[in-house]
Amino acid sequence: MSSVITRAYMRGRLYIILVGFVLALATGTGVLLWKSQDAKTNVKFGAVVGAMADATGDVLYRSLRLDNARIDAAASTVQFLDGPGGTLSAASEAAIAENRGELRVALARLAAAYEALEQAVEGEVSMGESQSLTQAEEGGEAEPARHDDPALDAIAGLEAPEIVKDIWKGKDGAHSLKQDIREVLTHADRLDIFEDYSQPAAQRVFADLKRLAKDRVRPNLTATLDRLNDDMIRTYDALQWTLMLVAGSIMAASVIVGLRIFEPMTRRISNAHEELQRAHDSIETAKEKAEAADRAKSEFLANMSHEIRTPMNGVLGMAELLARTELDNRQTMFVDVIAKSGNALLTIINDILDFSKIDAGQLELDPAPFTLAEAVEDVATLVSAKVAEKDLELIVRVDPALPATVVGDVGRFRQIATNLLGNAVKFTEKGHVLIDVRGEEAGDTVEVFVRVEDTGIGIPADKLEAVFDKFAQVDASSTRRHEGTGLGLAIASRLVALMGGRMDVESTPGKGSTFSFSVVFDADPGGVAPRPLPVDVTGARVLAIDDNPINRDILTEQLRSWGFDSAAATSGAEGLAFLERAASVGVRVDSVILDYQMPGMNGADVARAINENPATHGLPVVLLTSVDQVDTTRLARDYGIAAHMNKPARSSALLETLVCVMQRARTEQLQETQKPALHPQLQKDAERDRAVETTPDKHESAPQRVAARTEPAPALAERRISAATLQEAEPLDVLVAEDNEVNQLVFSQILNGLGYSYKIASNGRTALDMFRRHKPRMMLMDVSMPEMNGLEATREIRSIEQGMGTRTPIVGVTAHALKGDREKCLEAGMDDYLSKPISPNKLAIKIETWLQDGEMAHTA
Ligand code: ADP
Repeated sequence: MSSVITRAYMRGRLYIILVGFVLALATGTGVLLWKSQDAKTNVKFGAVVGAMADATGDVLYRSLRLDNARIDAAASTVQFLDGPGGTLSAASEAAIAENRGELRVALARLAAAYEALEQAVEGEVSMGESQSLTQAEEGGEAEPARHDDPALDAIAGLEAPEIVKDIWKGKDGAHSLKQDIREVLTHADRLDIFEDYSQPAAQRVFADLKRLAKDRVRPNLTATLDRLNDDMIRTYDALQWTLMLVAGSIMAASVIVGLRIFEPMTRRISNAHEELQRAHDSIETAKEKAEAADRAKSEFLANMSHEIRTPMNGVLGMAELLARTELDNRQTMFVDVIAKSGNALLTIINDILDFSKIDAGQLELDPAPFTLAEAVEDVATLVSAKVAEKDLELIVRVDPALPATVVGDVGRFRQIATNLLGNAVKFTEKGHVLIDVRGEEAGDTVEVFVRVEDTGIGIPADKLEAVFDKFAQVDASSTRRHEGTGLGLAIASRLVALMGGRMDVESTPGKGSTFSFSVVFDADPGGVAPRPLPVDVTGARVLAIDDNPINRDILTEQLRSWGFDSAAATSGAEGLAFLERAASVGVRVDSVILDYQMPGMNGADVARAINENPATHGLPVVLLTSVDQVDTTRLARDYGIAAHMNKPARSSALLETLVCVMQRARTEQLQETQKPALHPQLQKDAERDRAVETTPDKHESAPQRVAARTEPAPALAERRISAATLQEAEPLDVLVAEDNEVNQLVFSQILNGLGYSYKIASNGRTALDMFRRHKPRMMLMDVSMPEMNGLEATREIRSIEQGMGTRTPIVGVTAHALKGDREKCLEAGMDDYLSKPISPNKLAIKIETWLQDGEMAHTA
């Protein structure tokens, strides 16, 4: 049953209960009022009968006193007759007069009570009666009896109860009370007529009155009162019983209502509850199903990405190797397109995978300590080529006041920044792109605010909100010039939300956009302290020459934060004038940071001027250029430029470069002045210093060092044979476990190129056998393989090694992009992890690192 019907049904039942109770209460109250009205009437008439009894008592009492006064008077008259006079004594006269007066008052009260009762019993009092009753009091005038008794007023207009009527009229041969009272009144009236009570007629009246009072009126009145009392008690009893009846019937009604209404109601409620439970159960089942489907979707995506990445590995790896062979221009272009398309495809796959994971709530952050400035500079380096290509100015500012290291998911942070910076560069044709990182440390956390500003095409106001939606693009027409999936900002904004922040955008079409976001990182308690400076260059004076005010600010801020004494010039001419003046007053400037692209005098002109001026000759100049802007080797040779860096210069690299060039300059000066006395070791150091190549990005330098060991690579088949035949004589460098043939080819090409000896096993079991036979210096282990997977094989190898007391470095290789894969590899006993597609550079670094480590462990 639907909940609406249940509710209407229950409401109807409740109304019925309410109306039933109101009716029962009204009836009960009505009955009670009616019965209590009866009791009240009885009490009122009881009071009147009581008043009548009082008045009758008074009449009799006064008559008696009058009689006594008469007897006293008669006695005293006899005395006087015997004595000097024959008149009544004054005392007797006064007593008679007083009692007569009181008798009249009592008579009036009695008459009033009589009239009131008669009125209540008969409905009216006959005129004759009224006249005769009141004559005594009013001396014959025909007026109704007057009284001041409230009991009589109380019964005015009321009808006498039956019992009063019966007694009043004298039912069933009993004496009528009315008759008795009339007689009392008549006798008393008569008594009032007598002037002389000694007359025999008066004495008869007295005697009659006494008899009447004693034999009839008093007993009659007492009986009346008793019966009224009894009646009243009976009425109260009835009232009590009625009350109990009403209460009983209300209770009975409640029980019936309970059974008739509440019972079905509770039945319905329990039915509804059961329905609810069933609905809840089915929702639970649906939820479990949905979660299972979600998991399946995520697993499917992970598998799909694996399946797509594995062939992509072949495509990209081969393309990279192909690019290194001798190709003509057309072929180079084809390879370039293959590599670019492959990378674009990989980006899309990563985006879709990321978005699905975030959407399914399965993306977990992987916090670890990292250097904030380095992360930002990494991102800037990533886009710097594109920036140079478009001839834009890329400005990076990281607030030096921020703690150097924080704890957070650096990969995801870089991903967000890369997306914003990539978009800014993508949608800007001229001007600048700025990434500004500020922050606040609050207790155990650091809130970092990142702002990416560009001077590009901007976004119309009505599209601003939508850019964070998935697959949203401002210009979705097929002719649009910029590529992209429309997933970047959707992912970035969700990542920011996952990190406890939010992303905002402001934009003016035609002027540019500013994307900003804040994220909260944990402070790194074991964070590295700012790098200590070599003693001899602390406090060195550095002049920055740059026409861009933001760049100038950033440079001076950085220089100051490193403990240098800094100054800035807005143009080449101004910088040269500054140096001239400093030289003339004998203030030494230790280094110059020079921007290449400036209006008027460019960086090369300024460098030449510095070099040609004897006062500033030899001053180390660090030139900042965009990629491929100038032939730096020629500049260095011609103008004595000490170092050259690509913009944006990473702050750590800039510091290293500055320290390096200043130290070198000072050593040279030292050599100049103390040539004969120079210690051979110092001379060696100076030579080595001179040979220092500034390598801003350590990742780029590594392959060169590896490549230095490269010998001419023999063909694949040849190499394999030689490795097999040499197995006893020559130790095996690398054992590769990989089932996919294309990937085997990629590995062998890369390893051939690097000049290492290697062998390939096509599953875990074979790898295990080959490990026992060849004892390789290190292993590359694919994770998913038939027969025995990489994780199992690693476990086996580790247990074999336990008996041998050695440990071969094993680097896991997997196309799975899910979090936790790395942990699984390490848990199984691997030492490192490499994700597909594998680039020759990355692989070279890994192999070199682990072979060196293995050697060190061996020698140690
Ligand atoms: P896409 O991969 O298409 O760039 P994004 O989600 O990163 O996807 O961006 C969505 C859309 O927002 C872009 O297609 C572009 O229209 C707009 N957009 C993003 N950043 C900028 C920017 N800095 N300047 C102008 N438009 C931008």
